[in-house]
Amino acid sequence: MQFGVTHAHAVKFGPLDIATGSFLELLDGTRGLPLLREEARTLDLSDHQVDTLVSRLAGAGLIDDVRAAGPETDVLRNRPGALDRHRPDLASLSVVHPEPGGGMRRLAARRAMRVQVRGAGRVGAAIAAVLSGSGVGRVEVLDGGHTEPWDVSPGGLPPTAVGERRDTAARQLVRRSAAGAAPRAAETAGSPGGGEPGLSLIVVAPRDGLSVYAPDPRSAESWIASGTPHLYAGVMEATGIVGPLVLPGGTACAGCLALERAARDEDWTRILSQWRSGRRTAVQACDLGLATAVAGLAAAHALSFLDGELPASTGTRWEAALPLLDWRPERMGPHLECSCGAAGHTVRERSSGADARQETMAG
Ligand SMILES: [Zn+2]
Repeated sequence: MQFGVTHAHAVKFGPLDIATGSFLELLDGTRGLPLLREEARTLDLSDHQVDTLVSRLAGAGLIDDVRAAGPETDVLRNRPGALDRHRPDLASLSVVHPEPGGGMRRLAARRAMRVQVRGAGRVGAAIAAVLSGSGVGRVEVLDGGHTEPWDVSPGGLPPTAVGERRDTAARQLVRRSAAGAAPRAAETAGSPGGGEPGLSLIVVAPRDGLSVYAPDPRSAESWIASGTPHLYAGVMEATGIVGPLVLPGGTACAGCLALERAARDEDWTRILSQWRSGRRTAVQACDLGLATAVAGLAAAHALSFLDGELPASTGTRWEAALPLLDWRPERMGPHLECSCGAAGHTVRERSSGADARQETMAG
């Protein structure tokens, strides 16, 4: 019997006889183990057969048990309305993290996290809304000035925000997008005094796409120094960009990128300063569909990272240009001369994601 559909996540389990097949139908979350054993007897399955089957199913990642998630998930279960909003997210987390309680535990963990989104344009505001709607407890948006009509997007700032301060409008958007009330200070991890928890991630999504295409190493210095992971996302000249996700000291940073480009192209510094001086007058070439796709993909990469994985944007930039929109990866190598020190490290691939991340952060 195959559970699931897709190549990435379907699981085959077997062989199964008719009695075992009927027993599987009893596993709908309404029966505990004692009742399962009792009803299985009418199918001529012994207690031993039931226990063996259940442990094999659990081993294959096919059984979930929300009560296995631990007391930290109580706050979610006590808010049935909010939990209903998150049901598809929870189902998705359970597919990716199939151990009993794995999905519930991660959804609860998101609630204690603090993420900063830098930029409240078409891309940044939508990323902040998606992160908030996905259960991230604290989403801060930083931007200056007032909302312009061209900042408005269906997933981001609403038309009514035009003329309002961007940071105020974004804060309201984040609150509206959340499935329930924001967590109280006592609920957030890493804050024994009840203060703000540290930043789990910064998403750099400026309205000016050039700052993503050619990120300024100086603006990343304090994030590198504090070891704060950061993810770049934006649209530059009808080209969508997601990545790289920078793990300070572990993968290539903005400084590595700048050094690499300058080494490859002796005119790079001159051209870049021309772009920077010329950009203020021009309206950004930022297609709404592409901006929304970039926001969605960047938010998904951010969530995957927050859930403990190393998504494909780790040390890699993904680009898709209109009109064909085929996403292409460009691996960003750490530069030996960069002070971030990433060139001395290599991050292992996804199969051992969580371990690799810890190793990287420790390094
Ligand atoms: Zn670097």
